[in-house]
Amino acid sequence: MKTNWGLGLLLGSLAACGLLAADPAGSAPGITVRLVNSAKVPQAKLLQGEKEAAYILGKAGVSLTWEDCSAGSEGWQSGPCASSLGATDFWLHVATWKPAAAVGEMLGFTALSREPGADDSVAGVSYPMVRNMAESFGVGESEILGAALAHEIGHLLGVGHAPMGVMCSQFGRNQIVQASAGGLLFSARQASQIRTEIARRRAASEAP
Ligand SMILES: [Zn+2]
Repeated sequence: MKTNWGLGLLLGSLAACGLLAADPAGSAPGITVRLVNSAKVPQAKLLQGEKEAAYILGKAGVSLTWEDCSAGSEGWQSGPCASSLGATDFWLHVATWKPAAAVGEMLGFTALSREPGADDSVAGVSYPMVRNMAESFGVGESEILGAALAHEIGHLLGVGHAPMGVMCSQFGRNQIVQASAGGLLFSARQASQIRTEIARRRAASEAP
């Protein structure tokens, strides 16, 4: 398959990507992501990727809790994976497939529901693409996986693409280098947008 590793959009300085949200005082707004590892990513790599994504969200002032909802997992058919989706709960797949309706991204996909409040949004990361990219750039899979997971979570919370940072539409060498150094993050504006969206969802779900 012909791949197109975009190296455009990388002209900005690292300083511009350093405009990070300060950790807000008090408890961080939180989200829970139910992860389905249908690609069967080895557990150690998956956990590392989850940790990387939680770090990126943490830098945006958001606490991220992962719930393993893969087939056969402890909580799969009961417990948190089987309960109805809360206002700040999301599904995310690490998959070998992409939905037909997904907009063509290299690494991940997000198909948001048309109905606000419906829980049929689907987002995920393509594990074959993660492996491919890790091999091409000679870096660990978990760094790319973590950045890709954070990117898709950004979409689920309403953030669009940006020229720099973790919401770049395509990850090229600069993004991979930044990701390896823990510097591929949300901008202060995106972080604020995410926290506002979490607050909005909370308020909407609590409204009578
Ligand atoms: Zn995207």
